[in-house]
Amino acid sequence: MKAHISALSHLTCTHCKKKHDPHVPQTICSCGNILFAQYDIEKAKETLSPYTFEKRPHNIWRLAELMPVINPHYRFTLGEGGTPVLKLNNLGKTYHTARLFLKDEGQNPTGTFKSRGLCSAVSKGVELGIKNFTIPTAGNAGAALSAYAAASNTNAYVFMPKDAPDIIKQEVVAFGGKLTLIEGLISDAATIVQQKSKDLGWFDVSTLKEPYRVEGKKTMGFEIAEQFNWEIPDVIIYPTGGGTGIIGMWKAFQELEALGLIGSKRPRMIAVQATGCAPIVDAFNKKHARSAFWNHATTIAAGLRVPKAFGDYLILKALYESNGAAVAVKDEDILKYMKIMAKKEGILLGPEAAATVAGFVKLLERGCIDKQETIVLFATGSGLLTPEFFIH
Ligand SMILES: *Cc1c(COP(=O)(O)O)cnc(C)c1O
Ligand SMILES: [Zn+2]
Repeated sequence: MKAHISALSHLTCTHCKKKHDPHVPQTICSCGNILFAQYDIEKAKETLSPYTFEKRPHNIWRLAELMPVINPHYRFTLGEGGTPVLKLNNLGKTYHTARLFLKDEGQNPTGTFKSRGLCSAVSKGVELGIKNFTIPTAGNAGAALSAYAAASNTNAYVFMPKDAPDIIKQEVVAFGGKLTLIEGLISDAATIVQQKSKDLGWFDVSTLKEPYRVEGKKTMGFEIAEQFNWEIPDVIIYPTGGGTGIIGMWKAFQELEALGLIGSKRPRMIAVQATGCAPIVDAFNKKHARSAFWNHATTIAAGLRVPKAFGDYLILKALYESNGAAVAVKDEDILKYMKIMAKKEGILLGPEAAATVAGFVKLLERGCIDKQETIVLFATGSGLLTPEFFIH
């Protein structure tokens, strides 16, 4: 198949707008904020229309023009992306909704959507000559990094809280990742990773501390648009930790509009967090532009145990601009909806994904969602990684 050309043009700071060179490894802006990849949309248009890419593979490289890897040789893939949108008929009946869907990211390699972002970051990193990657992780991102490091013959140095699920630790080791278990939370792991990358020259692929993980995550927005026939749904509900998914999808919709593939309609973006760690919900309720560090973060949903998201200002921007919302749910409801979704729909959700369902029910009860709307619940991870939660 003919290789499609990346239209990557430069990087810009999301805060001070300074331009950065995309042909060398980059981390964050000198002003301390997040860099975004920018594309030459006119160049992308030369090969990209809804009719020209129908036959391309359903992985994150489907819209390669809007992805950062330039040489197709470095577009590694383990089949990430192209996940199904499932209609939730039984849950829909229970809540009298007409168009309730679930994007099943649990069907990604390593069982979570983390594979999208790490596929993209590792691929671009390898293209730029990086051989050693490091990451602080609650678990899933470390497994995904290790898988793509194996696929690309590079090294993964993973720092994970010692209470992370056993299966995930075993995955990292099986893929040949170098695993270090630490005391504390992902934020403590991040401190160690910063030091290691400084001392040993390892490249830190922490959430939004380099520009390309979010490019992998944005493909969820591309897929939603295509799967709904370029008619953007009314509501997207997303379990939010570091927030790359919300930030990435928001970026994706802008790029698709610039390309002329969608119009100006946007979904209301809704962030779901756990009551034991809800910094974004708190900031949203106070209408703040950034969040405050959440002390003593606790929730069974490890992916949501992020006391301070580096990209908080971009998450909140997407929530405000989309007229969205933010809601916190209890751990007991997370466990409850894991079981309900298994029994009623035949889908094994991880706790973060079940938080989305719990958040949906809460917002419906509050009248924030209309039963006639097209609603997409993001199920970010598979319940197969946390089987013990089904036994309670
Ligand atoms: C990391 C993770 C999240 C949080 O994702 P962000 O995009 O960083 O907010 C949600 N669910 C699962 C399963 C995760 O692994
Ligand atoms: Zn800047």
